[in-house]
Amino acid sequence: MTVSEKTDITQDTFLVGLGASPGVAIGETYLLNRARLTVVERAITAEEVPGEVSAFMDAVQLSKRQLEEVKAGVTDRQLAEHLYIIDTHLLILEDQMLIADTVATIERDLVNAEGALRRILDKFRKVFDSIEDEYLRERRSDIDSVGNRLLRNLKGETQQALTEFDRKVIIVAHELSPADTMQIDKEKIIGFVTDVGGRTSHTAILARSMGIPAVVGLETVSSLVAGGIPAIVDGVNGTVILNPSPETFKEYLKKKQSFEYLEKELLSYRELAAETLDGCRIALRGNVELVDEVPLAMSQGAEGIGLFRSEFLYMNRLVLPSEEDQFDAYRSIVERMAPHPVTIRPLDVGGDKFVAEINLADEANPAMGLRAVRFSLKERRLFKVQLRAILRASAYGRVRLMFPMISGVAEIRACKDCLEQAKAELTAEGIPFDPALPMGIMIETPSAALVADHLAQEVDFFSVGTNDLIQYCLAVDRGNEHVAYLYEPLHPAILKALKMICHAARTAGIEVGMCGEMAGEPLYSLVLLGLGFDELSMNAPGIPRVKRVLRQVSREDGGRLLEELMQLTTAQEVARRLEEEMNQRFPEIFGAPII
Ligand code: PEP
Ligand code: MG
Repeated sequence: MTVSEKTDITQDTFLVGLGASPGVAIGETYLLNRARLTVVERAITAEEVPGEVSAFMDAVQLSKRQLEEVKAGVTDRQLAEHLYIIDTHLLILEDQMLIADTVATIERDLVNAEGALRRILDKFRKVFDSIEDEYLRERRSDIDSVGNRLLRNLKGETQQALTEFDRKVIIVAHELSPADTMQIDKEKIIGFVTDVGGRTSHTAILARSMGIPAVVGLETVSSLVAGGIPAIVDGVNGTVILNPSPETFKEYLKKKQSFEYLEKELLSYRELAAETLDGCRIALRGNVELVDEVPLAMSQGAEGIGLFRSEFLYMNRLVLPSEEDQFDAYRSIVERMAPHPVTIRPLDVGGDKFVAEINLADEANPAMGLRAVRFSLKERRLFKVQLRAILRASAYGRVRLMFPMISGVAEIRACKDCLEQAKAELTAEGIPFDPALPMGIMIETPSAALVADHLAQEVDFFSVGTNDLIQYCLAVDRGNEHVAYLYEPLHPAILKALKMICHAARTAGIEVGMCGEMAGEPLYSLVLLGLGFDELSMNAPGIPRVKRVLRQVSREDGGRLLEELMQLTTAQEVARRLEEEMNQRFPEIFGAPII
């Protein structure tokens, strides 16, 4: 290994983070001065209180004006879809907990404004840090970015704008706020890497929507890298290579070209149907947690939402959402997706999903405890509120209702009773809803798979939740890294369960879909086609790749491959054979990685 003359960074230094936005950027680094703020808390006298309060309120006003300016400066249509992020930040600046508590802390505890603000921000952070869900935990970064803006404005510090570059650069920063990211000049900034952040941070979402390769969560990159170092950002694998050798450079140039070629080609799939060579139409839909994610699903060509995880409406708030709150959210998503359907899943709380306002008793085995419909059927008042809201939204577009974690016929019948009651109430009140609203269930438990034939008589559709089905079939906790090696979607037991579920649906003449992560992995698309799935619902960015695979194969091919795979006895054998087949058919998608 040689050492670069420009810096003391060794040639081919590989750093591993999280790929936040796919693509490969090759260029020169630019270290952005986003030094961490130092906050000094100091005691003040009662006489100083009015001055500190007014300095704080001035900083709030200035922050609002700055964010309004960012908003006004966004002209890119795709970016404009994400302006809600800036609106969220403006809302945080209106938040009484933040404003009033900071002022109260200045007055009550006699501390200066920046010290008081930091105390309140720390309180917020603690709440967010205790959230298990990655997406919601990431929302802490919104508070951080507003907090940092406020603190900088309080201290009178200015930040370098991201619009002032005279050449193409890869930005290296401790962190970038969504407002920073929105101001990025796409012509000049070809990639970015940050110490902090996760895949679902707003900054990552924005990077994806701008098509700028990004790697986040590198922890120390901003202290390691000076400006002007040659670097490669591989947003697919989440790696950054500093001072690449000529060989590495050549390899990545090739990777960059094939990635860009594939992306261009995938773009052309957006408007095309997911139709196989033998004319089978598969509905490719999006999984969303929040209404905000709808534009992304639409931009990827989703033909509706196959899973709206409604529990996210219940999280991150002080009181449970009312019928009206929920109705507004459901209606908005349903109207935005029209004419496509939106599949709303009632509350799936418990297990790995936690809602602060719902006090679930401590359970030794929460995944097998009072979760999802089990909870809803116990708390029928809450359940009814949600069912009424979903029914009401069905008057404004195509809604499908889907109950989670059904383990047998008695449970779905109990859910149907509640639904009938909600319908009767709305009818009596003269409130409109779709009387033919399709009603389905998720197949997520081994018992549901085993009695799928009986369940199929009760509902309009199935959607297989493989995330849980695999966990329960194989007795492998989906979130436990120690047994992650046993979490095998291609386990012969899973293939058998899927075959059984699809057969039951076919025989009963109902639709069968899949909304677990397995649906969005193109490696499985041919097998899922062979199994007979009508719908695959996934995280939106997966749609074009899955569509591309489906359009170049036939259901017959899938059926043949499935039969062959079902003769094999271990997940490893199945995986090997499947990879071989898919590599051969689609070397440009499944070809061996270059490193
Ligand atoms: C599943 O279990 O596959 C599923 C889609 O539901 P969740 O991941 O929300 O449990
Ligand atoms: Mg599930």
